[in-house]
Amino acid sequence: MTPPIDVRLETLTSPTSAAAAPFAPAGVAGAVNVATFYLETFGCQMNVHDSEKVAGVLLRRGYRQVDSPERAQLVLYNTCSIREKAAQKVFSRLGQFKAGQDAGKIIGVLGCVAQQEGERIFERAPWVGLVCGSASYRKLPELLAELESGNRRVTGLDTDTDETFETEMTRRDHPFRAYLTIIEGCDKACAYCVVPFTRGPERSRASGSILEEVRQLADVGYSEVQLLGQTVNSYKDPSPRPRSFAELLVAVAEVPGIRRVRFTTSHPTDFHADIVQAIDAVPAVCDHVHLPVQSGSTRVLRAMQRTYTRDAYLEKIALIRSARRHISVTTDIIVGFPGETEADFEETLSLLEVAQYDGAFSFKYSPRPNTPALAMADPIPEEEMGRRLVILQERQRQIQTARNAALVGEMFEVLVDGESRKESQWAGRTSSNRVVNFTSPRQNLLGNYLQVRVARAGPHSLVGEHVI
Ligand code: SAM
Ligand code: SF4
Repeated sequence: MTPPIDVRLETLTSPTSAAAAPFAPAGVAGAVNVATFYLETFGCQMNVHDSEKVAGVLLRRGYRQVDSPERAQLVLYNTCSIREKAAQKVFSRLGQFKAGQDAGKIIGVLGCVAQQEGERIFERAPWVGLVCGSASYRKLPELLAELESGNRRVTGLDTDTDETFETEMTRRDHPFRAYLTIIEGCDKACAYCVVPFTRGPERSRASGSILEEVRQLADVGYSEVQLLGQTVNSYKDPSPRPRSFAELLVAVAEVPGIRRVRFTTSHPTDFHADIVQAIDAVPAVCDHVHLPVQSGSTRVLRAMQRTYTRDAYLEKIALIRSARRHISVTTDIIVGFPGETEADFEETLSLLEVAQYDGAFSFKYSPRPNTPALAMADPIPEEEMGRRLVILQERQRQIQTARNAALVGEMFEVLVDGESRKESQWAGRTSSNRVVNFTSPRQNLLGNYLQVRVARAGPHSLVGEHVI
């Protein structure tokens, strides 16, 4: 059984080099209580993991985490601006503050909305004290020191860094799966996407430093690691003797104690046969590839500046399907990109049939600031985007239902990561990242790897029983 998370935290923290003094919140002269922080995260796994590192920086400085903004002296929102709705969420949070604002509180906006809106956030929400984009997180300790010394407006908004955000301590929230960012930023230039603006240029972390952290994670009981990057497989090892991304996958999988290595998100252009060979050769490299296609029409892909055609993408799918192991494939799709015709949309639907995805995240196109797509002609009306999304999701649901039904009777190893309130009911994930709800007569199963036979299947999950 894996040890509890706080044990791991202590191991990852060097007690001798600890903590600057906690700050006395501005306006509360001579306060001696330990400063508290509340941190809420929006968006992708990279944001979730950035927040784990931000929390690590704060804990190391002597802050204590609390579970509501009301109880905190420092309130941080780690934001997402990938689509308009996500960006709006943070302003609605900030709006709530205006009403019940506590004079001594410091409010901070981190992440993609911070980078995108910059100092304009101070105009929209004058009670905000800290605005910091993800490319400036390395400066967080300095920015916090400025806040602690009473400075009321502090910003970190540079994107011209070639460094990655590595911390001495990361406070990991998931008890069994450890996230590890191996490449930050993005050098692609998809016409719809804010990420190159909000996260800055691509920078990869040295493989030696990644492997050192994986060894530490294994030492404190983690058996599953997920390597993260906006385009994780574009990884370029800056070490004197660089490892390729596929070699890194294998090296991580070979760390004693590591049983599962996941990676996301893969960009089709940088997806090559050596990754499939690594999955085939090393069982600990998970049999799942998330390979966003965005559209099934080469015309739309070109307008999106996606750097591949429909045929080139399907060749990557064929490569994955030619593996000896059965590799699960999932994707992201955008409907209603400017100029997308009914015929283009039909091509996306027909690509679903050929690719046979095990899962798909699909979105209506959302216009984003600074992106080339903003100026493109022929916007698709909201209602039409909605219609296309419903059709696409229904078709994909049918495909998933059929694919999952074919798994009934099969046995999978699952890592148990959930416990139902109902007795004897558990949840876990297969190596292919499928959710399996299952029954077992045994107790205390969280964190264990078990064999489960699939008895029933729905479009989004499997139901089975523990085979003892
Ligand atoms: N780097 C990944 C890639 O190249 O596929 C994706 C990163 S992005 C955080 C996740 C997904 O959000 C994208 O794959 C895309 O489907 C979606 N997305 C990004 N920008 C969008 C926009 N402006 N409107 C709608 N969906 C968008
Ligand atoms: Fe955005 Fe494209 Fe980079 Fe993905 S590859 S983060 S979609 S610019």
